[in-house]
Amino acid sequence: MPIQKTTQKVDINKRRIINGADADVIQLYPMKHTFAWEAYNNGNANHWLPTEISMQQDIEQWKSHSVLSDEERLAFKTVLGFFSTADSIAANNIVLATYRHITSPECRMYCLRQAYEEAIHTHAYQYIVESLGLDSYEIFNMYRERQSIYDKDAFILSFNEGIFDPAFKTGTFENDQKFLENIAVFSLIMEGIFFYSSFAVMFSFQRQNKLVGSSQQIQYIMRDESQHLNFGIEMINTIKEEQPELWTEEFQARIIGLVRKAVELEYAFAVDCFPKGILGINSESFKTYIEYIADRRLQRVGLPVQYGSPNPFPWMSEAVDLNKEKNFFETRVTEYKTGGTLEW
Ligand code: FE
Repeated sequence: MPIQKTTQKVDINKRRIINGADADVIQLYPMKHTFAWEAYNNGNANHWLPTEISMQQDIEQWKSHSVLSDEERLAFKTVLGFFSTADSIAANNIVLATYRHITSPECRMYCLRQAYEEAIHTHAYQYIVESLGLDSYEIFNMYRERQSIYDKDAFILSFNEGIFDPAFKTGTFENDQKFLENIAVFSLIMEGIFFYSSFAVMFSFQRQNKLVGSSQQIQYIMRDESQHLNFGIEMINTIKEEQPELWTEEFQARIIGLVRKAVELEYAFAVDCFPKGILGINSESFKTYIEYIADRRLQRVGLPVQYGSPNPFPWMSEAVDLNKEKNFFETRVTEYKTGGTLEW
């Protein structure tokens, strides 16, 4: 679009997440959606790179025959099989689908940061695979081979149809709902539910002092992901304020239905990965945990809880669900220092 030559300043009161009437998407300042700027600054303050984390102990444990059982190895590889392509799916959605429809420059600014973080996460999985000498074809292709991973990803990717279409435009009731549904699916479900049994497994390894380098990588990823989730929730709640007509009862029921479907898919994945349970956790407690976090996600966007399940993994709650990631990291690791090394 050509630039209009004018001395008239932008009216930030007309700024919207989507469908901004005065949508100059180039002028960052002045800002309206300050939550996006906070998220951007948090992301920068938490910057990290996979290569800063020592994988030495993991390499020794993976080679040793006495540290990890066959079931633990299989669970670790399956979790990695899900992770290794999940962040590429998330990145593609931001870069190729949602970004161009967002008319808030500050939200676009955070999307750029988030997209880079998704790249760092994919780098982390690559780094784990390379460090441990795993079969990269096996791990990275798992989303097309393992039914339970395929089902999760096929579910998520089905919400790109439409939004990925070059002709797709916001501005109609139907398309705006479609956009909102995409944000809800990617933040509440992909980043808010589908990563979490895998996070729980990695934390269980860590609690037993196994594969701590890999777990540390995932711990950093989880901190980033909880910021992505928070940003998604802020976007949803702001769109609800800006375009309340979209949040119909029918639409709310649709989102609840999708979350319930996601809970089933995530539980099927957990059972598939850990049929006999793992590291002292049985698959029933995974089910309770998935239901528990699904309720939390629904609550954050003002939807009613569906399960009322208690949290069976309070140690996970401490880490992720209470939004205490900063405190959590302060008690366990030193904060990231730009240009420095990580000390544990
Ligand atoms: Fe993410």
